[in-house]
Amino acid sequence: MRGTEYMQQPRFAIYTRISRDRVGAGLGVERQQEDCEALVAQLGGVVVAAYSDNDISAYSGKHRPGYESLLHSVKAGDIDAVAVWHQDRLLRRTIDLEKYIDLCQPLGVATHTVKAGTFDLATPSGRAVAKTLAAWAAYEVETSTDRVKASKLQAARAGKTSGGNRAYGWNQDGMSLREAEAAVVREIVDRFIAGDSWNRIAVDLNSRSIPTAKGKMWSAINVANVAKLKRHYGIRDHNGVEYEAAWEPLLSRDKYEDLQLAIKRGQVLYGKRSYARKHLLTGFVHCGLCGTRMRIINAQQRDGSYSPAFSCRKNDHRGQEVGCGKVKRKKDPVELLVIDCIMYRLDTPEVSGLLSADAATPELKRLMREHETQRQRLEEILSLYSTNELTHDEYKVAKASAQSRLDTLTREIERTSSKRITANVPSGKTLRETWDQADLVWKRQLLDTLIEGVYIHPKKPGDGKAKFRGFIFNPDRVEIRWKI
Ligand SMILES: [Zn+2]
Repeated sequence: MRGTEYMQQPRFAIYTRISRDRVGAGLGVERQQEDCEALVAQLGGVVVAAYSDNDISAYSGKHRPGYESLLHSVKAGDIDAVAVWHQDRLLRRTIDLEKYIDLCQPLGVATHTVKAGTFDLATPSGRAVAKTLAAWAAYEVETSTDRVKASKLQAARAGKTSGGNRAYGWNQDGMSLREAEAAVVREIVDRFIAGDSWNRIAVDLNSRSIPTAKGKMWSAINVANVAKLKRHYGIRDHNGVEYEAAWEPLLSRDKYEDLQLAIKRGQVLYGKRSYARKHLLTGFVHCGLCGTRMRIINAQQRDGSYSPAFSCRKNDHRGQEVGCGKVKRKKDPVELLVIDCIMYRLDTPEVSGLLSADAATPELKRLMREHETQRQRLEEILSLYSTNELTHDEYKVAKASAQSRLDTLTREIERTSSKRITANVPSGKTLRETWDQADLVWKRQLLDTLIEGVYIHPKKPGDGKAKFRGFIFNPDRVEIRWKI
C-alpha cells in the first residue's frame, strides 16, 4: 500500500459523473459521492476536493470541466489519491486511461473505486488490471450498441415499432389507435388535401382547444409533421427504408399519395411570388378612368397623418407614362367593402354550388403529375447541357419549351386549386369566421377565384358626405367585376 508512505492522512479528490452508460446508470451524483466518501473514510483518507461532470446534457459530450480540474489538481500535487464510484465514471475510453496513467504514475497517485477496487497505477499489475477493465468496458459498450441496432432493424423488418415517443393518434404501444386523436389526424389530412393550409388548420385546432400529443398548442409545423407521419399510412420507416407496418393503418396509401401531391401543389402555388403579398388587394385594384393597376402608397390625410391608399400612378420610376394619375382612394374602406361583397356573394346557392369540393380532384392529380414530369425534364435538360451533350442553342430552345409548358401547368394548377378553396369552410363555421382566421394566401386565392378586378372610379360632388363603416367614402364609386 502506498498509504504507508504518507506522513499524514492521504488527501483524496472525489470524482463523480452522471452518464447514460451501463455502470451505475441512473445512479445520482449524491449517491456516488456518498459511496466515495465512505470509501475514503475506510481507507483513512481525507476528502480535499470533489469534481463532477454531467454527460447527459447534449453539449457536454467531449468537454468535461470536472475531469479537467481533477487532472489539474493531480498535476499540481494537491492530492494523493482519487476516489471514484467505478472506473467507467472516470475514464470512458482506453485512450483516456493511457493519458491518466501517464499523469498519475510518476506522481504516485492511486485510484480507488467503490465497485472495482484499487488501481495502483504505479505498479505494472495495477495498470494491467485498469487497462483490462477499460478494454472490457469498451467492448461492452460497442456490442450493446450493435445489439440495439440489430434489434431495431429486426423490429423494422417485422414492421414492428421499436418504442420511442408516443405518436399523435396512437397509444404508447404504437399498435392501437387513440380514437379522439385519430379523428383529428384524418381531419388534418383531408383538409390539407382539399386545399387548406397547415397554418389555418393549426389556428382552427387551437380555437377548438384541441391539444397536441404533448398537451401544447399547435403550430403549422406540428400539424404538417403529424400529417406526414408515415406510420398513419401503414409504413414502418427505418433510417429511410420503408417496411410494411404490422399495425392496422389509420389512413390508406392512396391518401398518402394524395397528401404528397397536395404538398407539391403547395410548393408550386405558394412558392410563387404572386401569392406572397402584404396587402389583400394588391394586383386586383385598377383605376376606373384609365384601367391601370393601382399601387398602394402612404397618403397624407387631412389631419396630417398617413394611411395607405390606392393610387393611379402617372409615371413609372423611369418617367415613362403608365396611368392617368387622377384617381386615389383610401385602402381600408375599399378592402372592407370588397370583403362585404364577397361574403354576400358566397351566401348565394349558385356560387357555393360552383365551388364544389371534389370536382377538381382527378384533374388536379393529373396536372400535378405532369408538372412533376416537366420539372424533371427541365432538370434533365440542364444536366445534359452541363455535360456538353447539348449545345447552347439546343439548350436554350429545349429549356424555353419546357419552361413554358411548366408555366402553363402552374397556371392550370392554380385555377383548379383555387376552385376548391372555398369548399374548405370547416363544418359548423360561417364563411365569415373562416375568413377572419384565414391567412393572406388563402384570402387572395379566394379573391382570385371570384374576382376579375376591382375598379375605383373618380370621386363625384357630394362624396365628401358619404359615410361607410366610419369612413368618408362612397361605395358606389367602387365597381367589382366578378368572374362567376
Ligand atoms: Zn388612372
